[in-house]
Order: sequence, then C-alpha cells, then structure tokens
Amino acid sequence: MEYDYDLFVIGAGSGGVRASRISSSLGAKVAIAEEFRVGGTCVIRGCVPKKLLVYASHFSEDFEDAEAYGWTVPKATHSWQTLITNKDTEIDRLNGIYHTILSNNNVELYEARATLIDNHTVQVGDKTVTAKYILIATGGTPVMPDVPGIEHAISSNEAFHLEELPKRVIVVGGGYIAVEFAGIFHGLGSEVIQLYRGEQILRGFDADVQNVLAEEIRKKGIDVRTHSNPASIEKTNSGLKVTLEDGSVLETDAIMYATGRKANTDGLNLEQVGVELKPNGAVVVTPDSQTTIENIYAVGDVTDRVALTPVAIHEGMAFAETVFGNRPRAIDHSNIPSAVFSQPQVGTVGLTEAEAREKFGEVDIYKSQFRPMKHTLTGRPEQAFVKLIVDAKSDVVVGAHIIGSDAAEIIQAVGIALKCGATKAQFDSTVGVHPSLAEEIVTMREKFVVA
Ligand code: NDP
Repeated sequence: MEYDYDLFVIGAGSGGVRASRISSSLGAKVAIAEEFRVGGTCVIRGCVPKKLLVYASHFSEDFEDAEAYGWTVPKATHSWQTLITNKDTEIDRLNGIYHTILSNNNVELYEARATLIDNHTVQVGDKTVTAKYILIATGGTPVMPDVPGIEHAISSNEAFHLEELPKRVIVVGGGYIAVEFAGIFHGLGSEVIQLYRGEQILRGFDADVQNVLAEEIRKKGIDVRTHSNPASIEKTNSGLKVTLEDGSVLETDAIMYATGRKANTDGLNLEQVGVELKPNGAVVVTPDSQTTIENIYAVGDVTDRVALTPVAIHEGMAFAETVFGNRPRAIDHSNIPSAVFSQPQVGTVGLTEAEAREKFGEVDIYKSQFRPMKHTLTGRPEQAFVKLIVDAKSDVVVGAHIIGSDAAEIIQAVGIALKCGATKAQFDSTVGVHPSLAEEIVTMREKFVVA
C-alpha cells in the first residue's frame, strides 16, 4: 500500500524534531504536525527561557558580591519588561531556527492539531493524510490540584509572560520547577514562600542533597515551608488570600503551582486505535519506543519515562535509526546526568545513597561540604557540597551529587566517568584542577563514617 508519508510525527518539540530530521536524512518522507509553536516545551516555555531567567536573577547577588572585590556598584534596578522582551526575542529566534531545521531537512510542517483516525491515518487540520509509521511526541503539560480558587493560580507557562514581577509570590511544589522558580523570583526581588506538602523538597534526590539545598535556599531568604499545602485561594482587593490546610492564612500577589506534569494524550484518539495508555495518560512503550500498535512509536515526555529534553532527543534518534536506519537500538536510561537550576545549582548522576544501599548492600560514602573560594572574600555563608557513592565490593562509583555554582557543567563530565564504569581508584588517580569546586570530586579520600 502507498502512503502519503513514511513517517508522520505529532508534536514538534525536542524529540519530534530530532526524530523527523534524522528519519528524513535516512531517506524517509516525513511530515510533522504542531498546533502551538515549533520547538516544544524546552525551547518555548521550559529549559531555555527558564535558564535565561536564572541568569537574570543571579545578578542581584553578583552585584552584592562585587563590592568585596573592590567594585563600587550603584544601586542596581531591574526591568522585568526588558527581561521578558529580550527573552521573547531569543525564543522567537530559536523558533525560527527550528522552522529552518525542518525545511532544510525536507520535513513538511503542518501547523495544526493532529488526531489519529486509524493506525495509518491522521486528521491534521482539515486534511487527512496517511503514513507508514506514526510517532507520538506531544510532550506534557502542567497539572494543578483541584483546590477552590485554583483559577487564580498560574503555572510555569504563565510565569514566563507575567506583565510585572510580583512583589510577593507563593510557589507550590518541591520538584525541579518549583525550586527553580522560587530561586528566579527571589533573585529578581520578590518575597518568596515555597510550600511543599511533604517532608523535604526534591523528593527522590539524595537525602543530603535535599537537606543541604533546602538549607542553602533558606539562607538566601526563600521561606521554604514543608508539610504545607494550600486548601483554598481567594481573590482580594490587595492580591490573593491563600488558606493553608492547617488553617493559617497567607497574603500574596501571585501563586504559582509546579505540582507536576501530565502527558499530552487527550483527544489524540490513541486508545481508540489500540495504543495502550498508562493510568496517568502516558503512552506505554517498549524500550525501543514502540507502542502496543506495531507501526506507532512514542518518544519524550508523553511516555513518562525520564522527562528531560536530552532524553527525548536520544529517544527520537534511536527511533529513527531503528526504523529507518536498520540499526535497532534502545535507550539506556541509567546514569542520566541532570541538573536543577536552583541557586546554588544541583548536579546529579547515578544512584542516591539510599538506592545504592538497597542495590549493593555495602557502599562507601565520600562527602565534603565547604565554603566556595569566591565567598572567602564576600563573606556570603553559601556552602558547596560534593558527594560520591561507591559500591564497596567493585569500587565502582555509582552516584555523584554536587551542589554549588556550575554544578550542572561539572556533572556533565562526571556523567561520562559513571557511564564508563569508573572506579573510585580511577577518580583518585585523576589530577584535580586547582583551585576549583570540581577538584573535590577527585580529592576526597576519607570515607564518611556514620557517627
Ligand atoms: P515534579 O514531579 O518534579 O514535582 C512536582 C512537585 O509537586 C512535587 O514536589 C510533588 O510533591 C508536588 N505535588 C504534586 N502533586 C501535588 C498536589 N496535588 N498538591 C501539592 N503538591 C503536589 O514536577 P515538576 O513540575 O517540578 O517538573 C516536571 C518534570 O520536568 C520533572 O520531573 C523533570 O523531569 C522535568 N524538569 C527538569 C528540569 C531540569 O532538568 N532542570 C527543570 C524543570 C523540569 P511530592 O514530592 O510529594 O510528590
């Protein structure tokens, strides 16, 4: 049977664009549908604009710290509008680049919503097209709990487009997005309260990382409150009144929920054509991203495996090489380095101490907490933290965790060592770069002994 396309991709985010580009370069005739803006969450309203806002927010400390190094800095003022305008210009530029990538790679773009009619037929806008393979790469979207007054809350989507910087902000949640935005708003001058329902923010991270980061961001002035959760939100003349589950009341100008994301599968007709979904709506896939229908694949956040852009890109490439390149390969989801762009940053790869103890039984722990050199002059009480987790039997380093400036940059390189299965002895035989925070990774010799 003749199809209009070899591949029809739904969703032009990181995973979908990479999969279409590589598939096309391998000889496939490819089309892609996008109902919003080409680039996806990461480029349009995620990683990229977020990192620009993180850069912006860090200047307030930099100005303060500069004085200890001899600079006289006049009182700095900040324009939220300038920041947002410049950020939007950059996002428009990247959006344009994504359009160019698609057209240079002969990928036909449909700027419309796509829905499956059957496993080879897609309704896209007012057209019906057929394809041998279909790739679902529709990503995810923020979810908020159903509390009274939730319509007054914003998600990260809206935070990127606020007309002005709120003087007071409540951030709800303790995950990546909550921690990052609490830091952004605080650095730009808002009074920030972060409410987390559980015991400690960044659940799932190494316990030391959770505790050290919570302490560091509290020291900076973010009011992190655990076991705290809003019960209702009301609009008042002076802003918003937020009543917590314990009955206490907070006043704020904005409340941002960062309480997780869900897969964008509503209305795609996936289950009707036989594609199985998880109870949370994510697409069920095999390790090589195939769904329960043989010619339909799915990559990225919509599969709820590891919701990170570089993972979606890897999955997209592996899909293209498997299906059109005759090089079947699945993605190894172990030892994925990641960073939280909190202030200070968190970089992490491999297992937490608890996971390693569970998996290996006996583990050696190396950890170090210290004042970064920069702050010997500034007096800022910020601490850096480095921790290595080693399987005692094999001496292989199975986890590395860093808190401090540039932790994201450092952990990327440490990730290579873990991927290669490096031992602690090999870490130790590596000469440090002095003076740097990163040298701590290769200079820790004393095992941490629980007192
Ligand atoms: P996360 O799943 O990381 O965090 C959600 C947070 O909201 C948790 O603290 C959770 O609490 C809390 N929560 C969930 N439901 C409720 C509720 N009903 N009421 C109150 N609190 C609730 O999601 P994010 O939205 O922060 O991020 C989504 C994903 O995006 C991340 O997992 C990550 O993969 C990716 N991401 C990566 C970034 C990076 O690499 N730097 C940056 C941003 C996002 P609890 O712990 O109790 O479940």
